[in-house]
Amino acid sequence: MKKLSGIPVSDGIAIGRVLKLKKEERAVEAYTICEEDIENEISRFTEALEKVACHVQALYESTKHKLNESEAEIFAAHLSVVEDPMIEDGVKDRIRDERMNVEQALKLTLDEIEALFAALDDEYLRERGADVRDVGGQIMDYLLGRASLDVSRLPYPCIIAAKDLTPSETMSMDFSKTLGFMTEQGGRTSHTAIISRSLEIPAVVGIGSMMEELKDEEWVILDALEGTIIINPDKGQIEFYKQKQEEYLAGKQLLAQLKDEPAMTKDHVFFELCANIGNPSDADRILNYGAEGIGLYRTEFLYMENSHFPTEEEQFTAYKVVAEKMGDKPVIIRTLDIGGDKALPYFTFEHEENPFLGWRAIRICLDQVDVLKTQLRAILRASAFGNLKIMYPMIISKEELLQANEILEACKGELRSEGTKFNPDIQVGIMVETPAAVAMSDVLANYVDFFSIGTNDLCQYTLAVDRGNVKIAGRYNPLHPAVLRSIKRVIDAAHAKGKPVGMCGEFAGDERAAELLAGFGLDEFSMTASSIPRIKKRIRDMRLEDARQTAAKVLEAETIEEVRRLIGYEK
Ligand code: PEP
Ligand code: MG
Repeated sequence: MKKLSGIPVSDGIAIGRVLKLKKEERAVEAYTICEEDIENEISRFTEALEKVACHVQALYESTKHKLNESEAEIFAAHLSVVEDPMIEDGVKDRIRDERMNVEQALKLTLDEIEALFAALDDEYLRERGADVRDVGGQIMDYLLGRASLDVSRLPYPCIIAAKDLTPSETMSMDFSKTLGFMTEQGGRTSHTAIISRSLEIPAVVGIGSMMEELKDEEWVILDALEGTIIINPDKGQIEFYKQKQEEYLAGKQLLAQLKDEPAMTKDHVFFELCANIGNPSDADRILNYGAEGIGLYRTEFLYMENSHFPTEEEQFTAYKVVAEKMGDKPVIIRTLDIGGDKALPYFTFEHEENPFLGWRAIRICLDQVDVLKTQLRAILRASAFGNLKIMYPMIISKEELLQANEILEACKGELRSEGTKFNPDIQVGIMVETPAAVAMSDVLANYVDFFSIGTNDLCQYTLAVDRGNVKIAGRYNPLHPAVLRSIKRVIDAAHAKGKPVGMCGEFAGDERAAELLAGFGLDEFSMTASSIPRIKKRIRDMRLEDARQTAAKVLEAETIEEVRRLIGYEK
């Protein structure tokens, strides 16, 4: 018997036999090439890049039905690694200027980039180096002509032990036979950790050197509640952990039973818990988590996954599917939010110095009225089949809102004269995600049926901190008093006009902030569906009166640290 410990990243207990995933050492030869071979080496590299991009895309296609948004982003991150000029230029420059063979050029470039990531203080950012390692490893495999490990056919139900697992390996795994993961490397925010959490497979990472001591088929207890691993346990230990496993599963079931319970505080105040979706197919999954509606349907995926602007008919079909699946539950459809970091393969955006401050979202739609009209007509037509609402993104002024509503009214007029059915009283709201919308919230509240706070953008615009810039990610924090005061201001402004307020940014699914947001008076929380049970539990365990008192103190806080202390939010 031997005990090891590591970082528990995905709850649960697994008891089973080990299967070691050993990776072949990749022997990378280093030699100097002659001038005539330069173009040949470069084209080998380009071909490898293309192949890996296709592979990432194909893996995404075959697994996307299992993924939530943040996992889908992993594939986007991988594609961006493939396209990253740091890799491409680094390799090509070394081939051209230093006459290196492509494998050696790639190795040195990857080492250099990985070292850059490894030197970062922030754990989350350090983990992003794993994307480079994963994708870089795949490019190298291709160049060296080595097939990657076939993890899609596991020989027996097992606990997978590995030095490290790439997200691609994790996603390709035969889940029916995977009892747990244990790895020597990795941290809480590694993509493998994120994926194992969403697949609900127990995992412990960062165990340190262990592969040497493990043998295939050896029995192991993986306690991913504590981060403990017992190799070759005795009978007593197996009995003890079986009992612990049963208790854990019973507790989990209890959480699942909350599915049909209301999100009601101890002093009997109700909150609405909804899900964010990106595809019509998500609608089935979210109901299993007890979603009471859809607080944000990000329609841009419909546009991004197409080879052309989706037609009215194509959009109508998608929206109708969601409307029908959700029945009388509300579905907030956000109109196209493109631009910024979201491009369309069939539409050329002119280069902009500051795309996030540029031509995006409602700005595009108000300039390209036909694009907005097509979408609004499709939503209106689908509104005859369920409880649909419309939401405009990135609004900064009353004029924009009224202009969009004018176009909506024109669409209604057209449909009326065509004799097409729709809900004439369809509710219309806006995302409050710009400081301008916060400042004008008392005015804007007069012209909407609801607000939904988009904290992802509101945080970046309020703090002037790019949400995607790794260098300043430590400064991006919705617990900043400036962001919290904005949230409170919006809620108060809407309530003064009798309008409800939701939140559909990531902050709504952060259980440590649930009491604070409830105390501020938020009416609806919309999040990744799998977070709903935990937020519900928080709400059911709180008293609104206490939450309000905490919220009042937080509004007095002067720093993020003070906010953290007041709400008991550990780092
Ligand atoms: C937001 O900004 O909070 C939001 C929900 O929109 P997105 O993340 O799509 O920009
Ligand atoms: Mg946004």
